[in-house]
Amino acid sequence: MHSYDYLIVGAGLFGAVFAREMTNAGKKCLVIDRRPHIGGNTYCKEIEGINVHWYGPHIFHTNDKEIWDYVNQFVSFNHYIHAPTAIFQGKVYNLPFNMNTFHQMWGVITPEEAQAKIQEQIREAGITQPRNLEEQAISLVGRDIFEKLIKGYTEKQWGKSCKELPPFIIKRLPVRFTYDNNYFNDRYQGIPIGGYNRLTEGLLAGIEVRLNTDYFSEKSYFDQLAPKIVYTGKIDEFFDYRFGELEYRSLRFEHEILEKENFQGNAQVNYTDVNVPYTRIVEHKHFEFGRQPITVITREYSKKWQKGDEPYYPINDEKNNAIFKKYETLAQSLPHVIFGGRLAEYRYYDMHQIIGSALVKARKEKMSF
Ligand code: FAD
Ligand code: UDP
Repeated sequence: MHSYDYLIVGAGLFGAVFAREMTNAGKKCLVIDRRPHIGGNTYCKEIEGINVHWYGPHIFHTNDKEIWDYVNQFVSFNHYIHAPTAIFQGKVYNLPFNMNTFHQMWGVITPEEAQAKIQEQIREAGITQPRNLEEQAISLVGRDIFEKLIKGYTEKQWGKSCKELPPFIIKRLPVRFTYDNNYFNDRYQGIPIGGYNRLTEGLLAGIEVRLNTDYFSEKSYFDQLAPKIVYTGKIDEFFDYRFGELEYRSLRFEHEILEKENFQGNAQVNYTDVNVPYTRIVEHKHFEFGRQPITVITREYSKKWQKGDEPYYPINDEKNNAIFKKYETLAQSLPHVIFGGRLAEYRYYDMHQIIGSALVKARKEKMSF
């Protein structure tokens, strides 16, 4: 006799949405997480009245009204619009790449002038079909922007040359020929009022959660608790690395409280020079328009993932995708385990995509009742 209908490994957004959906459908869930808190990478720690994005800056954005309405059941969102800036050798540039950036880079004023400059640099580079991130970047914004705003940041972030990285990573960023610094094109955007924990607390309300609990420490005990398991951890770890280790990037966060009201005037400033060791500095109060007399900043350093580190980013190059495919095929032979989320699906998913994926998988599951 099972004690629960679902054992859910991971209290991040995927696990929390899936648990909510199954609970609403009358099923009994147990959620476990090895960390001491819920929310996965969206977790915020409150320091002196400021919600500190403990695992990196999180901005919610989506084009999908269903997903927007879904999260708004649990928390309201403020009107924050993400507009990070980049610093290269003492000069400030707007992001994403738009008319402000082109003006700062070349002094051009009109979209025609900017397009002509980019076309000239693409022609000089002789790229027809971009095969890697470097060629993709030059084809989108030209060599100057690649050299000053992309190359150093990307090589620090991923620990590889831009020639070895897949083109899709840079296509995440909009390129616009308007004076518009909004980092996203999506219709809906904001930060949960009161922080992300409000969202995950709302999703998990009334659901049993055990923290500081690692599935692998007592796998056979947990496996007999429920006929179905939802697993949101690393897929290679689930299968005991039998096809080899998947690569991830990890991060080191250096949080600091400063006795001043405003350190950098923006929630996020990227340091695109390869000689600056961190990739970005986040000043958390600006996500919520905070007026506290002090401020909290976080310097973010990227590093290779090693056992014991948190795996933040999957590295979706050909080699790793091929290893992932083998794990994915093996996963299909275990119909009682649902694999979901950024680590189990080994994809560079944003929050709205995780919520979408959890809702689709939950809907499919409900059809099997
Ligand atoms: P996670 O949040 O990683 O949750 C998985 C949970 O499973 C973790 O809490 C982990 O401790 C637990 N777990 C793993 N293995 C075990 C085990 N063996 N036993 C018990 N528990 C286990 N998205 C956006 O939309 N906008 C952004 O601005 C944005 N910025 C980001 C910045 C950074 C630095 C990072 C890393 C991600 C960012 N994201 C952003 C992506 C967002 O964090 C993810 O899409 C989302 O949080 C993933 O949810 P998840 O549940 O799949 O994974
Ligand atoms: N990127 C860059 N310069 C920047 C910002 C981003 O070259 O100033 C590149 C980099 O390769 C990064 C990718 O664009 O990994 C995606 O950026 P995004 O801001 O979406 O990264 P995330 O916030 O998910 O780490």
